[in-house]
Amino acid sequence: MEYEAVIGLEVHAELCTASKVFCGCATTFGAPPNNQVCPVCLGLPGALPALNRRALEYAIAAGLALNCQIASTCQFDRKQYYYPDLPKAYQITQYHQPLCTGGCLEIMTKQGLKRVGITRIHLEEEAGKTVHAGSTGITGAQYALIDYNRCGIPLIEIVSGPDLRFPEEAKLFLEKLRSILCYLGVSDGKMEEGSLRCDANVSVRPVGEQAMGKRAEIKNLNSFRAVQAALAYEIRRQMELAASGTPLAMEEARAWDEQSGMTVYMRPKEQPHEYRYYPDPDLMPVVISSAWVEEIGRTIPELPDAKYDRYTRQWGLASHDAWLIAAEQKLAAYFEAVVESFSGNPKTVSHWVLGEFSRLLNLEKTAIDAVKIRPRDFAVLLERLAAGTVSGNTAKTVLETMFYTGQDPDTIIREQGLAQISDVQQLQELVAAVLAAHPGPVADYRAGKAKAFDYLVGQVMKATRGRANPEVVRQILIAELVPAEKPAKQ
Ligand code: ADP
Ligand code: MG
Ligand code: ZN
Repeated sequence: MEYEAVIGLEVHAELCTASKVFCGCATTFGAPPNNQVCPVCLGLPGALPALNRRALEYAIAAGLALNCQIASTCQFDRKQYYYPDLPKAYQITQYHQPLCTGGCLEIMTKQGLKRVGITRIHLEEEAGKTVHAGSTGITGAQYALIDYNRCGIPLIEIVSGPDLRFPEEAKLFLEKLRSILCYLGVSDGKMEEGSLRCDANVSVRPVGEQAMGKRAEIKNLNSFRAVQAALAYEIRRQMELAASGTPLAMEEARAWDEQSGMTVYMRPKEQPHEYRYYPDPDLMPVVISSAWVEEIGRTIPELPDAKYDRYTRQWGLASHDAWLIAAEQKLAAYFEAVVESFSGNPKTVSHWVLGEFSRLLNLEKTAIDAVKIRPRDFAVLLERLAAGTVSGNTAKTVLETMFYTGQDPDTIIREQGLAQISDVQQLQELVAAVLAAHPGPVADYRAGKAKAFDYLVGQVMKATRGRANPEVVRQILIAELVPAEKPAKQ
């Protein structure tokens, strides 16, 4: 029997507000442990929470960008469980009425465009952080340290429909989501710092079956790679179990073990009633007027999908290139600034931005904000290239110098004598000298060895340190080498 996987993600994104969601403590990452705490986020008796307006606005913006309905009131519930990193022994979250519902997000899969449902988005608070110490790994640890700095940082949980079928689709979904949240400026999307992470729910069923099988929930995945690898492993495991007649009997929570490359059983999956959810009596419902929602809607910038459409339809960029640029807001803004001051084709710009420019960015681990090349200068360089003032190879050298020094291209070309030689008479003299110095290859060429032609072109390029215009050189060579046959390939 053939099986298919059914995947749904619960993504947690920390909102990048300056202060926490129910108190005034700072949210700065990396502060010394237990320095950003107060009676509210430490859960001391009698302390009262007050909702951070900005956190609610950010959550609403995320809902709008993901095409959700926004609830008319914001209500909170207490989710009770006992854990050392949760000092109140309950988490303030939204259970009975999530803030946003019924949205969707589109991803470009191998099979084409796919619409993935966003079941709900709710606003909640972070728990603290437990550091297992004294040895390596949780099981070997001798003691645990607790840092409450993270306690009470606002979080949105975004729950997808069970619409994903492959680990690759889960990755695409996460990438798109991350890109959108970063565009909105509501989250920094840093998976490596834990501000974006997800639980992956997965089950398998025979192809053609409508009902979903029992699922495993893989907790706390914090890289794109982990999500894909954990899902691939778990799908294989469940398919093998199903094929041998012993499918999952109970829903379970599992953990991803990076080292062994396996998911490991943690506990049976909790049922909602076990958390004894009830409305938080300390937090009154907040009315969300449609005027307020509209106002928040107006702050949403052009999102990656819209940019992608513009780049492909209006500017003719290849799909892959358009997405690579559109996915990153700052790169997209830079790219658009270069296109704006460039007289040529935007595709030339994308080619250079994704090619040589990105190579330098990666090589030097430079953030796009710190780039020294002014967009106008980038455009000028591409114009010099188009006009034949510099060759393609030289343009790369010039770009590199621009990258490190911030100088403009014309100054670099002038000072380093990099202008391309297109002057026919000058090149004719050079060609004549090369032909005189290499009678062997000339004879070879005349005897029908086409390769000798490329050798001769190479010699002229060498004599000019790569500055000769290769097209002009080729034409002169062809003319000079007559009356031999035309080169076989040209
Ligand atoms: P919870 O895990 O908190 O009980 P839900 O039941 O709403 O919450 O499901 C959470 C996620 O699990 C959603 O993304 C949903 O699409 C996905 N999901 C639910 N049932 C299955 C299933 N049988 N197989 C795969 N994914 C599932
Ligand atoms: Mg869950
Ligand atoms: Zn606090």
